[in-house]
Amino acid sequence: MAEHDVDLFVIGGGSGGVRAARIAAEHGASVMLAEEYRLGGTCVIRGCVPKKLLVYASRFHGEFEDAAGFGWTVPHASFDWTTLIANKDREIARLEAAYGATLAKAGVKVVKTRAALLDAHTIRLADGARVRARYVLIATGGTPSYGDPIFGIEYVITSNEAFHLPDFPRRVVIQGGGYIAVEFAGIFAGLGSHVTLVYRRENILRGFDDDVRHHLRVEMEARGIRVFTGCKVVAVEDAAGHFVVRLTSGSQIPADRVMFATGRVPNIAKIGLKEAGVEIAKNGGIAVDDYSRTTVANIYAVGDVTNRINLTPVAIREGHAFADTVFGGKPTAVDHTNVPTAVFSEPEIGTVGLTEGQARERLAQTDIYKAMFKPLKATLSGRQTTVLIKLVVDGLSDRVVGCHVVGEGAAEIAQIAAIAVKMGAKKADFDATIALHPTAAEELVTMRKRFASFARVAAE
Ligand SMILES: Cc1cc2nc3c(=O)[nH]c(=O)nc-3n(C[C@H](O)[C@H](O)[C@H](O)COP(=O)(O)OP(=O)(O)OC[C@H]3O[C@@H](n4cnc5c(N)ncnc54)[C@H](O)[C@@H]3O)c2cc1C
Repeated sequence: MAEHDVDLFVIGGGSGGVRAARIAAEHGASVMLAEEYRLGGTCVIRGCVPKKLLVYASRFHGEFEDAAGFGWTVPHASFDWTTLIANKDREIARLEAAYGATLAKAGVKVVKTRAALLDAHTIRLADGARVRARYVLIATGGTPSYGDPIFGIEYVITSNEAFHLPDFPRRVVIQGGGYIAVEFAGIFAGLGSHVTLVYRRENILRGFDDDVRHHLRVEMEARGIRVFTGCKVVAVEDAAGHFVVRLTSGSQIPADRVMFATGRVPNIAKIGLKEAGVEIAKNGGIAVDDYSRTTVANIYAVGDVTNRINLTPVAIREGHAFADTVFGGKPTAVDHTNVPTAVFSEPEIGTVGLTEGQARERLAQTDIYKAMFKPLKATLSGRQTTVLIKLVVDGLSDRVVGCHVVGEGAAEIAQIAAIAVKMGAKKADFDATIALHPTAAEELVTMRKRFASFARVAAE
């Protein structure tokens, strides 16, 4: 009898696990993958994809308003939540099936069950069956965290439930200041809810460039979203038919739905890490080296469960690199620098590289180039909005080390700018590029005048 049933057992059928399983199988490995919920994982089922579909839905509202300045008379538009959710669910089911088909075509055996490690080579399935594997990949992702326990927490939903609400909420309170919180604030507000965002720190989007944070907050408030910072939700009370949300500031807000987007934690509970000897890192995720290998030689981990950079394309890249390393004879470490990221708020944010604050800490000299302007479309629509474009430049080497955009199409702009930043393009290269007119992105190559220059403050 063979010592192992399969070459690779993957726990988790999300972005990282599915890619790793497919590539490993294409390299000739026999692969089994366990998924306890739905193939596709967070991104496909209750993350990036359904979220972006809801974002599209929410933006029609502004488009209808803006149309008047261009001569259109739009009859009173009405919105139906049930139709949106049903159509979204149909698309998600199609994608889920496509993931299954791709894995089947690659020869991966999928088992729809929960799996946990019994030791470094043995996996136990929910029905008690055991599978022996030469290698194990843990790709169990993350899950929403509710933060500190509060009175009435049972009434609070997370992004998981927000995608499946039976009724459209007219009044929504969202607690959190990260990208998921501001994205859902924009979604609900665009679809017609009165939205209040509550965040305990001084401003939303911690970790993003300070100009970007300030700019988005002003734009969100201009669209009617109330942003309360420096306070927290202390209680959610059932008030017969709706909820009353009490804040540390003493405010009481009536709401039909209360959502917490207060961070996500790696899915490490009850998957047998201790039994297998897999250690946890300081960041709360599974500890891994540059090749995603854990503290146990035959066990690897990729994606959100490692809590490195929790984005789909990063999980996919890590899964692919793992398969190439272990089964493709091509050891591949993932480069986690200059990963572009977007916030699909209204307006959108696209960013890559260092923030001004990070650059000023790390570089001897930081030069800032910045443009804020009214977009052409807003001239006729009359919308009060401005675009922000900011370049962070290493003052000594002239390399562009950060690019930050807030405005329509920001995510698309950031993806392209990321290539230049990754290649090490200099500000002179941006300047040498002829503008594409009329666009917002042309400001990237026409900002000649330095906005500010900072020398690093020497450490004491
Ligand atoms: C609301 C929201 C919006 C997001 N938007 C974006 C975005 O716009 N862009 C972006 O890049 N990223 C976005 N993300 C993040 C992105 O979804 C994740 O980074 C990505 O899905 C991580 O992939 P993963 O493979 O590590 O884990 P996941 O995709 O979470 O997959 C893990 C899978 O493992 C399964 N599983 C867990 N435990 C077990 C077990 N013991 N046995 C069997 N199966 C198990 C789970 O059911 C799940 O399907 C968003 C996330 C959320 C929540």
